[in-house]
Amino acid sequence: MAKKKKTASAQKEKEKGQKSGKHVYLFGRSKTDGNGGMKPLLGGKGAGLAEMCRIGLPVPPGFTITTEVCTYYYDHKRTYPSDLRAQMQTGLASIEKETGKKFGDVKNPLLVSVRSGARDSMPGMMDTILNLGLNDQTVEALSKKTGNPRFAWDCYRRFVQMYGDVVLGVQKRPGEDHEPFETVIDTLKHERYHKDIEDTKLTPGDLKELVVRFKALVKERAGKEFPASPWDQLMGAVGAVFGSWMNDRAIVYRRKYNIPSEWGTAVNVQAMVYGNTGDRSGSGVAFTRNPANGAKEFYGEFLINAQGEDVVAGVRTPEPVAQLNTHLPKAYAELERIRQTLEKHFKDVQDFEFTIEDETVYMLQTRNGKRTAMAALKFSMDMFKEKLIDWKTAVMRNPADQLDQLLAPVFDATEAGKAKAIATGLPAGPGAASGQIYLNAERAVVAADRKEQVLLVRVETSPEDLRGMIAAEGILTARGGVSSHAALVARQMGKVCVCGASALEVDYQARTVKVDGKTYKEGDWLSIDGTAGKVFPGRLKTASSEIVAGLLEGDEAAKKTEKFKSFQQLMKWCDDATRMSVRTNADTPEQTKNAIAFGAVGIGLCRTEHMFFEGNRIDAMREMILADTIDARKAALAKLLPYQRDDFAGIFRALDGYPATIRFLDPPLHEFLPHTPDQQKDLAKKMGISAEKIHARVEQLHEFNPMLGFRGCRLGIDFPEISEMQARAVFEAAAIVQKEGKKVRPEIMIPLVGFKKELDLQLEVVHRVAREVQAEQKVKLSYMVGTMIEVPRGALTADEIAQSAEFFSFGTNDLTQTGLGMSRDDSGSFLPHYAELEIVKKNPFATIDAGGVGQLVEMAVKKGRGVKKDLKLGICGEHGGDPDSIKFFEQVGLDYVSASPFRVPVARLAAAQAAITGKK
Ligand code: ADP
Ligand code: MG
Ligand code: MG
Repeated sequence: MAKKKKTASAQKEKEKGQKSGKHVYLFGRSKTDGNGGMKPLLGGKGAGLAEMCRIGLPVPPGFTITTEVCTYYYDHKRTYPSDLRAQMQTGLASIEKETGKKFGDVKNPLLVSVRSGARDSMPGMMDTILNLGLNDQTVEALSKKTGNPRFAWDCYRRFVQMYGDVVLGVQKRPGEDHEPFETVIDTLKHERYHKDIEDTKLTPGDLKELVVRFKALVKERAGKEFPASPWDQLMGAVGAVFGSWMNDRAIVYRRKYNIPSEWGTAVNVQAMVYGNTGDRSGSGVAFTRNPANGAKEFYGEFLINAQGEDVVAGVRTPEPVAQLNTHLPKAYAELERIRQTLEKHFKDVQDFEFTIEDETVYMLQTRNGKRTAMAALKFSMDMFKEKLIDWKTAVMRNPADQLDQLLAPVFDATEAGKAKAIATGLPAGPGAASGQIYLNAERAVVAADRKEQVLLVRVETSPEDLRGMIAAEGILTARGGVSSHAALVARQMGKVCVCGASALEVDYQARTVKVDGKTYKEGDWLSIDGTAGKVFPGRLKTASSEIVAGLLEGDEAAKKTEKFKSFQQLMKWCDDATRMSVRTNADTPEQTKNAIAFGAVGIGLCRTEHMFFEGNRIDAMREMILADTIDARKAALAKLLPYQRDDFAGIFRALDGYPATIRFLDPPLHEFLPHTPDQQKDLAKKMGISAEKIHARVEQLHEFNPMLGFRGCRLGIDFPEISEMQARAVFEAAAIVQKEGKKVRPEIMIPLVGFKKELDLQLEVVHRVAREVQAEQKVKLSYMVGTMIEVPRGALTADEIAQSAEFFSFGTNDLTQTGLGMSRDDSGSFLPHYAELEIVKKNPFATIDAGGVGQLVEMAVKKGRGVKKDLKLGICGEHGGDPDSIKFFEQVGLDYVSASPFRVPVARLAAAQAAITGKK
């Protein structure tokens, strides 16, 4: 829709920019070069600032250096285009004109912020530098001009601190728990006041002293003087922003969210406005609606007398934005107006940053707000009702890969009712989580690798904690508000999170958390309720989400909840929008029932071998494998027949008329036999045969590469009696259920076919058995026989195979293994490194390798449909539940995808979104 067009035009803009050599785009009251659709070129922040200027919101003037310059920088050994500096000078001149201040001036100095801005926000990844342009002369000028020396020196100490950290690399060393600059501040506070005092209480004299000590720290650690020339400062800061695009944190983040490194970041240079001039000023972050639970309320927080980074860093715990109405009512009213304007214009919930300078509001950023799945659902429903968006847009607004958050458990109501909360904090990421506590990211990762359920507990989190946050079930912090780093990241990753639980005393040294008179060590259990913002001792029981309770457990109260109703509405819209249908991978009546309750319209893959493992069926299976003669094998198979028949009958009943694709025996036979001598001895005793015989058979069946061995239809070709038994089980079950008055639609699927002849031989068996059963049972059955396309030869000769097959189902797991020549089970040893090197962008076993394996799928679709126009096509690999893959399957025109029962809602949403995007 609009978005796509905008991106295309931005792309053109980008090409144009390259040719004309325009590196710098202005924004401000008098002139704005860019707009909101130019995210690829200007980054998210730059595009947002430009758009806000266009709709007349109060934005301090500035300019954006394009993402192309970043690309250039890395392509040219970290140097800039030759005309960049001249363009920046023009940009600065335009800011000077609009503000009436001058960069480096000793009367009325212009200060700027230097801000990174990737295409999509990367919270905390890139660091911003504020108050740039200050030195020992300009600080005096600022002080004199404003008559506010405290303010001027506060700006200066902030600048030296930020610049020292970000540009000159004066940071926490391994093993240090505090930032070195913060340690300097702490030391001074204790020297002069003998206790912790708020930063706002520091006097001009204190701040002056801090600047001196900061500069000394820089000299000691960075080995050079702090730069005094504003232009040197500016160029250094621009270089640092581009440099940070390739720092470890940014790389980890990009990998997690699959952001290509070619995108680059833009740099924004913007006139400073000051939230730290006194009590009539402040800084804040707000959402036009509540991003945690979706409520339509002004949501956010602010700090009086502070610059923006104080709010985000979670150093002081801010006040809720509603409080601003009492402190600064005029500014609050202006923000309320801006809130309305933003939603009307962007038609989506905005996350914005503002600064109030002497009661005047300035906008510093806006973007679509990150939200939990719960909030996304409510936003989409409410905005549809408010006529801000249409129903298709509402469907698009729910991220498919987040939808399973809604199905995640909550705390069991009775248990949570009994449990006594030991602390409360802000509900920053909804859901329930229990875990063993760890106080630093590395140890959390190690514990999670040991398969522990981990709760990461920190005073506050920072970007270095990202790995630990990914590994943890939940995140708990003692400090920080709803826009602290912890809250931001939790919201984005769908992690359960409680932040700002100030009753917690977190001791990094002792690795303990003291709360409510008790001390918890690392490894002890705590539970957090991220919906209510509560912390509980120990490990609490969880209960099903209302959606699961309503759909699968028939819980009537759950069905009345707003969450349940909204979910059902969304799913209904999905059905209206979708072209592909969604089936499920299920092997039992129970799984089938669940999947149908979630909206599946049939089984796309029923793996019959799973049925052979249950109870004592495995004995008959082993007898069959160990049989020396065909009669002995048939006798063993006869024992299996009733089991399979019952299983299929149960599944057909659960399906209630929906089709079921049933795959015949697929895995290599040795998987059914015991492998250790002890197990073999036990089995020998049980079966009354010698252990040597079992051992010999296992040896005989042993394969160097079972993935490519004696499996799939090769089993049925060698032992047609196995296929015969399976066909009989299917048809007899079908006859039974059909006589009960239910429609039955079996679709028998022959696995691993690479030659038409393989399929033909199996078809003969299946059709013969079908005729026999129909005659015996005096019924007429309707069924289909088709094949899996899962080896490259099958895809390459799909036109031949389609002459015999009534349907294809793409087995993309094996097609990926055989197409890439890469075993899924062994790929763990090198695939992570491949991802790091970006040889593969995503794990090809999770998201279809569209450029490679996808071509095989596409070719088979064309060849198959060329022979049989109506050939039914589906996919049953793991990829059937992956939103990106589903988009691909929509594009190549498959009829259905099949996903595991609990992924069915995700697949329905992804299929609907793929159809909507496809039509635009
Ligand atoms: P991030 O991408 O981490 O959010 P930003 O570039 O948005 O970083 O900067 C962080 C904070 O710095 C912002 O919230 C804003 O309050 C403050 N800030 C940035 N530029 C300016 C400016 N020109 N004037 C005043 N404050 C600013
Ligand atoms: Mg920001
Ligand atoms: Mg397979």
